[in-house]
Amino acid sequence: MPTTSAPAILRGGEWLLQPSDADAVFTPERTTEEHRLIAQTAQQFVDNEVLPVLDRLEQKDWALARDLIKRAAGLGLLGVDVPETYGGVGLDKVSSLIVSERMARSASFGATWGATANLTVIPLHLFGTEAQKRKYLPRLLAGEIVGAYALSETGSGSDALGARTRAARQPDGSFVLNGEKMWITNGGFADLIVVFAKVDGEQFTAFLVERPFGVKSGKEEHKMGLHGSSTTALIFQDVHVPAENVLGEIGKGHKVAFNVLNFARFKLGAACAGGAYGAIGEAAKYAATRRQFGQPIASFGAIKHKIGEMVSRTYAIESLLYRTAGLVDARMAGAPHGSGDGSAALAAFEEYAVEASIAKVAGSEALDFVLDENIQIHGGNGYVRDYPAERHFRDARVNRIFEGTNEINRLLIPGMLVRRALKGELALIPAAKALQDELVGPPSLTSSDDSPLAEERRAIEAFKKVALMVLGLAMQTYGEKLTDEQEVLMQLADIVIDVYSAESAVLRAFAAKNKSQVSGLKSQVADDLNLETRALRLAGLQVDAARVFVNDAALRIDAAARQALATMTEGDTLRTMLAGLRRLLKVTPINTVALRRRLADEAVARGAYPFA
Ligand SMILES: Cc1cc2nc3c(=O)[nH]c(=O)nc-3n(C[C@H](O)[C@H](O)[C@H](O)COP(=O)(O)OP(=O)(O)OC[C@H]3O[C@@H](n4cnc5c(N)ncnc54)[C@H](O)[C@@H]3O)c2cc1C
Repeated sequence: MPTTSAPAILRGGEWLLQPSDADAVFTPERTTEEHRLIAQTAQQFVDNEVLPVLDRLEQKDWALARDLIKRAAGLGLLGVDVPETYGGVGLDKVSSLIVSERMARSASFGATWGATANLTVIPLHLFGTEAQKRKYLPRLLAGEIVGAYALSETGSGSDALGARTRAARQPDGSFVLNGEKMWITNGGFADLIVVFAKVDGEQFTAFLVERPFGVKSGKEEHKMGLHGSSTTALIFQDVHVPAENVLGEIGKGHKVAFNVLNFARFKLGAACAGGAYGAIGEAAKYAATRRQFGQPIASFGAIKHKIGEMVSRTYAIESLLYRTAGLVDARMAGAPHGSGDGSAALAAFEEYAVEASIAKVAGSEALDFVLDENIQIHGGNGYVRDYPAERHFRDARVNRIFEGTNEINRLLIPGMLVRRALKGELALIPAAKALQDELVGPPSLTSSDDSPLAEERRAIEAFKKVALMVLGLAMQTYGEKLTDEQEVLMQLADIVIDVYSAESAVLRAFAAKNKSQVSGLKSQVADDLNLETRALRLAGLQVDAARVFVNDAALRIDAAARQALATMTEGDTLRTMLAGLRRLLKVTPINTVALRRRLADEAVARGAYPFA
């Protein structure tokens, strides 16, 4: 199902090299009635069926977890990404993002759901043979069986290809698996497990392993959070796996693992956004009712600052997620075999792997910021179990660790951009050269522009040039050895993440402001001002959120760029580079206090994240 609007099909990372058109970017405001219905279905399911039984899940009632999976399946919440032929509901990636956001209202059940709906269903959909799909997908999507994804081992987490689990090839073509996987979500009760093992000790390969083949679970891990999800080791001792249960090709397990992760990272970013919407609501409601010094704490500037910042950061994450989903959908819609084919999704997520890593890192870090501030706003009540704030905080911490740690994802972001540039897939090198010429030439005059967010849109163009300047210098300085310079790569990743986040926020706010102005004019004719006034106010708040984000991103980008430049150059060269940086990054600070106060007041008045 294509989305209603048709965003331009930019290639992955291409937004770094050219201005983007706000009309071509997908935003939450462009969602359809069908999107809103699936959001409502997922939200009501979690609110009415999962949250009331969370204590039982935290007591490890896995029969209940299985039952909830079945009920989610009945509502179509497991098969959003899969065509109806295999028992799915075949919706677009915007729907997929929406479901992930809503399922995260319970982080524990969200993990249980994600391990089956994302980490088992997706590899089957992308890499399964027709026979494998027909055998397993309908049962998975009906919730009759539950899935798990077993990649990590004690000795190989980030270094996933270093797995020691072995698959010995048998004369009849079948395999015998031996080894142990660690920290597997749904490990205590999953029926079908995607297992990675090395065929004859060398060829990294994915297998579909049914529990009755002989898989044993270790004990439940004592975790910091996600107490309502099962995490165990899985033990494979002479487990016989038929030849037809190889998933993908022998020796090509890395393709399965990495492509599934592209998908999963995007969805994890969505789950983090969902967690942030909920926590902002909790913080706002608490701040409205908790009184100190004779007034609600929401009236204090320090608290308004926190809530305003929580809203602004979440707004940027939400914007980049919907933008990315729009890109993926547009690309899939243009695929030769149509969007229902697994190969279309595979190609699209490969294309937007940089954006998926950004969603994962930015989403998980924004969420941790929001949840930390949520505790702070709750004071002592934030630190005790009577309130959910402490549980959210514990539950969320793992988001920076699994699906590739944030360090690994940060390394991947500039790494993938450079690789594409060297392959000629991304015109980064000519753009960096053009920028060098621009910096030695006379400054160009900026024309006056009084359209909404004009300053911020100029700032985004400057951010992109800073990213290019640092990336170009890093490629020039280190060449092939750039991969060894992790500190510079981390700074580069931070800059690129801020560029994508800030631009996504600005494009969305710009579109909202333009639309509200146009419909505001119409409404005076129609004499239906209430709705329009509200839309105008919300659009104004979106502009506030975007402006706060850009203001602070400029400071972060400046700091990261200075550090990186000082690492790579010194003396006169450094001075020249810093002069170039000053010339590019002329962002005048704005009064973010007033903007954050408005955002906070709206969140408190509504008792919710204002834009969800
Ligand atoms: C609750 C939970 C659920 C999980 N569910 C699953 C699951 O369902 N399936 C599954 O397969 N796995 C699962 N995992 C495992 C998870 O994916 C790994 O923990 C994660 O990939 C990190 O691996 P590690 O723990 O071995 O850390 P390590 O790889 O040892 O990393 C330790 C630190 O070193 C850093 N580091 C590592 N390598 C590098 C490098 N090259 N450069 C710079 N820094 C580096 C890391 O970023 C990290 O900060 C789960 C883990 C948890 C806690």
